[in-house]
Amino acid sequence: MTRKVDRLDSARAASLRADPPSPPFEVRDTGRYGHGSFATVDIPAGSTIQTLVGVTISYPEVVRRVLAGVEGIDDPLQVGVRTFLDLEESSRQFNHSCDPNAGLRKRSELFALRDIAAGEEITFDYSTTISPTTWWMRCECGAPNCRGVVADVRSIPPRTLQRYIRLGALQRFMLRLIRQPGWRKRRPGEPKRGRARAR
Ligand SMILES: [Zn+2]
Repeated sequence: MTRKVDRLDSARAASLRADPPSPPFEVRDTGRYGHGSFATVDIPAGSTIQTLVGVTISYPEVVRRVLAGVEGIDDPLQVGVRTFLDLEESSRQFNHSCDPNAGLRKRSELFALRDIAAGEEITFDYSTTISPTTWWMRCECGAPNCRGVVADVRSIPPRTLQRYIRLGALQRFMLRLIRQPGWRKRRPGEPKRGRARAR
């Protein structure tokens, strides 16, 4: 009898261990740059942390919302060449780092690039999500390899970009973009080939 109860208890404990809290992080003050998301449990490398969600909006709508002051310029997440997600509050609390412990894959799935210990702040490299543009902001992430700015994907050193590719830490649209020949040389907003069809 006792043994059976023990078995049930250990089965229950095992199932609890198999079900990490969802989401496996909490939002709190970083003490340095506003709020951030911190792991509440150990998160193994490769595991999904959260799929970032929000309303899909076009680039002109991003511009309209930013100019109207309802969005910060770094709030919407790019998920396509001209498509963005106006992220829900719970999805926009991850800060940038030039030495991130998480990355984005598929459309907007945040996952652990390496083992993340409970208590660590979860960060990703915003530049992996930004197609060529003239926008940039100063970076004060404090990483030893800090690039000093958060700018578009071209600002990522080639070796670092290769590492992200190896780790699967680029969204689908960005993988397609950087496979195009000469993508680093194209000016922001320049169409892939030919002229605009305006007449
Ligand atoms: Zn930095």
